Amino acid sequence: MPKQVNERKLPSAVTYMFITHDLSVVNHFSDDIAVMYLGRLVEKAPADELFANPTHPYTQALLSAIPVPRIGAKRERVLLKGELSSPINPPNACRFASRCIYVRDECRNSEPMLKEIRDNHFVACSLVD
Ligand code: SF4
Repeated sequence: MPKQVNERKLPSAVTYMFITHDLSVVNHFSDDIAVMYLGRLVEKAPADELFANPTHPYTQALLSAIPVPRIGAKRERVLLKGELSSPINPPNACRFASRCIYVRDECRNSEPMLKEIRDNHFVACSLVD
């Protein structure tokens, strides 16, 4: 007798990857959040940790863009200026350097590596050296 289809085992855990520019949305259902800039991972942390301690300047700018749902309440907005680096021919440096308010010479000379700064919280920025 052939096996029935409903006898197949289901996976014990499921992972969803949700891609958005709106961090306020992902905070409600994500265990971990990874922030990317021009194809590179710049910060990754558990959701609560990322919102409590955003460290990469790009993450800080994204979080500052989230509206505060209270009348009269305001959040200090980090406005990004400068040119986007070329995604086709990215620089051999920090890809956020042309828009970063904290940019230093070393940011333009080498690409920062992802480093663990707290338990399961990773950042790619020369500021955290
Ligand atoms: S490495 Fe430098 S340019 Fe890049 S995000 Fe950090 S401070 Fe800004």
